[in-house]
Amino acid sequence: MASQTGAIVQSSLDALLEDKEFLSNLQNELREQAFTSLAAILSTPNHVHKSFLRVPLENGEVVRIPAFRIQHNNTLGPYKGGIRFHEMVNEEEVTNLAALMTLKNALHEVPFGGGKGGVIINPRKFSEKELLLICQKYVQYFSDVLGPDKDIPAPDVGTGDREMDWMMAEYKSIHPGKPYRGSFTGKSVLNGGSLGRREATGKGVYYTLRYMLYDFLKEQKKWLSDSGNIFAKTALAFEDDPLKIAVQGFGNVGSVAALEAYQCNHLQNKIVAVSDRNVTLYNSDGLDVPALVEYTASNNGDLPVTDEQLIEADVKAEIRDRNDVLYLDVDVMILAALEDVIHNENVEKVKAKIIVEGANAPVTGEADKSLNEKGVIIIPDILANAGGVIVSYFEWLQGRETQFYSEQEVFELLFNKMKSTMNMIFPQYFGDPFPLRQNCYIHAVMKLSTTLYRQGKLY
Ligand code: NAD
Repeated sequence: MASQTGAIVQSSLDALLEDKEFLSNLQNELREQAFTSLAAILSTPNHVHKSFLRVPLENGEVVRIPAFRIQHNNTLGPYKGGIRFHEMVNEEEVTNLAALMTLKNALHEVPFGGGKGGVIINPRKFSEKELLLICQKYVQYFSDVLGPDKDIPAPDVGTGDREMDWMMAEYKSIHPGKPYRGSFTGKSVLNGGSLGRREATGKGVYYTLRYMLYDFLKEQKKWLSDSGNIFAKTALAFEDDPLKIAVQGFGNVGSVAALEAYQCNHLQNKIVAVSDRNVTLYNSDGLDVPALVEYTASNNGDLPVTDEQLIEADVKAEIRDRNDVLYLDVDVMILAALEDVIHNENVEKVKAKIIVEGANAPVTGEADKSLNEKGVIIIPDILANAGGVIVSYFEWLQGRETQFYSEQEVFELLFNKMKSTMNMIFPQYFGDPFPLRQNCYIHAVMKLSTTLYRQGKLY
């Protein structure tokens, strides 16, 4: 398993090995052996499926497109994870993301394992008909290993409800008469998708920030003040002030998180900057986020990049370089674009005191260490962006029962699930010296290790 995830899994296992109360039946040599087995199981995927999809293009040319489905671990249930369409996606990245899914589901008690898919294309360079064909081919090539009780894909970067609808339809034709609604999640509501799935990740991302600063901080103020913990000090500094927030990425996750923050009255937020693949938009008095959401909806997802386009959007903002968003003097930065955007070379320029990871792995291991040492709170991907997979689980359940929940029910269920995870994690985070990411990993690894032990997989 690649870099950061693998390293944190190993350090979580090291910490648990020292904790004699954990798996206390295992002593001495047997204990050492079991932990070596756990490291081997959690650091490697169960299956790596690779293919070259043969796709005839509309110009008559036939191309072979590399595609993956990586199934990391199914100890807790069927494999689950998105399919990414991106020209830079590769096997190592997909493996790492699949492992992250295993841990994310374990942390939030979602009864799924971890998987991830990738197709090496820039979807913007293909016609709609070609994309349909690519989706159909993906399902044809991997149909034996996918299914409602085996492996359930969902959207990721470059894919959305349209692709999931196409893929589910192909799965249905290949497996006539078999249950098919639970084969893919993130579908359109018309095709058995869940209300609230589109907004789930972004809403969940913002909810983690709101819950930490508003609910948890208010309830635990005395204890937090007395704790002397470096992260508690950072959190308490925001008690009464309006928050200045910057958001990198204005797609599915970033735009919903920005809108949630804009609409949340409790924290008096000001969204001073948003960015996308082209541009950063900045306004120290706060941006009109609903107007930007409306603009992007009718402009291929892109933010305005010229003064004329800002007028068209009816938004007042300065136009800046797309990377400026990362270095602004803000309280909170929500990262909702890509991996590795904060790294060793630029971490010193980051001024935000709280970082929320809407994207997967946007902060590298070294940068993470340096920010933690400064007392910057990082709400990690595994905790913050689980809304999508949690509501995917509700979608899967609804598909099985052919009984559908209202949007309000979905969000209540989502927030309750995330709240119970945070109530388990935050007291330890603000009480001991481990960063939040490490705390989350320890919980996930504990859950997986105990289950593997009880399933007799450690002998
Ligand atoms: P998306 O494709 O809808 O949006 C991505 C956004 O990032 C776009 O606004 C794009 O313009 C912007 N972007 C691309 N390159 C950029 C760059 N170099 N600098 C700044 N912005 C850039 O994708 P999404 O679904 O919002 O996913 C974003 C991240 O969140 C990904 O890392 C994804 O894995 C993660 N994630 C998504 C979900 C989900 O449910 N969609 C769930 C969990 C995690």
